[in-house]
Amino acid sequence: MEFINQMEPSFDKHEREALNAYMLEGGWGTEFRKTRTFEDMLKEYTGARHCWIMPNGTLSLVAALEAVGIGVGDEVICPDYTMAATANAAELIGAKSVFVDIDRKTLCMDFAKMKDAVTDRTKAIFLVSINGRYPKEMQQFVDFCAETGIHLIEDAAQSLGSFCNGRHLGRYGEIGSFSFSAPKIITTGQGGALITDDDELSEKIKKIRDFGRLAGGSDHYLTKGWNFKFTDFQAVIGIEQMKKLPQRVERKKAMGKLYDRLLAGIPGVELIKTDYRDTSPWFFDILCERREELQVYLKEKGIGSRPFYPPLHAEPAYGYIDLSFPVTEEIAAKGLWLPSSVLVTDDEIACICNTIRDFYLINSEERI
Ligand SMILES: *Cc1c(COP(=O)(O)O)cnc(C)c1O
Repeated sequence: MEFINQMEPSFDKHEREALNAYMLEGGWGTEFRKTRTFEDMLKEYTGARHCWIMPNGTLSLVAALEAVGIGVGDEVICPDYTMAATANAAELIGAKSVFVDIDRKTLCMDFAKMKDAVTDRTKAIFLVSINGRYPKEMQQFVDFCAETGIHLIEDAAQSLGSFCNGRHLGRYGEIGSFSFSAPKIITTGQGGALITDDDELSEKIKKIRDFGRLAGGSDHYLTKGWNFKFTDFQAVIGIEQMKKLPQRVERKKAMGKLYDRLLAGIPGVELIKTDYRDTSPWFFDILCERREELQVYLKEKGIGSRPFYPPLHAEPAYGYIDLSFPVTEEIAAKGLWLPSSVLVTDDEIACICNTIRDFYLINSEERI
């Protein structure tokens, strides 16, 4: 059996042929019609009014903060359990990331603890729909932000294909952000996007990503902006990946259900509940006993896996070592991501789950 990677992207002849055709047409490479088409497809899929593609999902978060006016010294609330890019986007523009613990059921930011973390410097909340799940208080987050004037920005980097009450994730915030890095459900190698329904914010984002210019070819700078533009080389890939998105979402849901069924009842393994009507799981996640041993055992059997993100606050880069976020600390110590690429077959999932079952069985027999 070939080694099963925890994650890998999937391309085929459609991407190859589209890129070849683009090169034959003599496109200039930088963003143009292909990027606009990719944006149109994202608007249609998510239902958002505006979409802007960015070089990656970190810079898209930076642009979102700048669009709502966040700057030096402002505080941005961010879950302790997320990919580091969420926190770093705020730090990059001189704002401060304030960490908040998560809800153990959804692994998303805890609403009550978020309210406790608000100060008079809080200007924005990064709501991360981790792994395509969303907080049960989604509407309360929206209402709280509307009442207090704190900006709600959704980091939906892991949630393309996931919904909450029929509304695509990323559309509860004033702005929603996606990533198309290699492990995401669709990828352009690197890439990101912002969606919004707000015309004014859309205009701001448009300028921020193009040097602050009035329009391409004009050298009048209405606001400070940067070069956060994309390439049509990548957009060509993105268009082909978007065509595959609906079928990938169905596949991910079917894979999740199979994992849930085959892992149920294994002592030492705890499943995190997923509502497959809404959520297209990005990574298949379990909480497990003796994680490091299990990881080594899986690797010996040709199965890749990856531990959850660490509690960000305690990482040297942030250094809030004295703080404690018990839920994040617990799940970060137990969490493991299993093979999650759309390329993983049902037979492979069965083999992965049997191997996990064997691990806990052998180990419990040894103890007897
Ligand atoms: C992938 C990811 C990002 C960052 O995206 P990049 O495109 O890698 O910069 C941000 N937030 C979350 C939650 C992610 O999973």
